[in-house]
Amino acid sequence: MSEFVPPENPLSTGESSAVAHPAPETETVTTWKVACAGDESRGLGHPKVWLKISPEMGFVDCGYCDKRFVIDAENVHDEH
Ligand SMILES: [Zn+2]
Repeated sequence: MSEFVPPENPLSTGESSAVAHPAPETETVTTWKVACAGDESRGLGHPKVWLKISPEMGFVDCGYCDKRFVIDAENVHDEH
């Protein structure tokens, strides 16, 4: 608990917030189709499901665990 970073963080490297976000879990992905099976390491696993990100929305939420998958539009893989 002693490593709390104060809100004002000048000149952030942009990679520092990957771990410590309290919001609903999100994952940035580079494919429009993603598989989610929950987080087994925390006892929150669920049957594996495939989710398809809507190009208009740019993200999809898992119906089981509410995890959000956000497309990384600049690095997306086209599955052709
Ligand atoms: Zn899930």
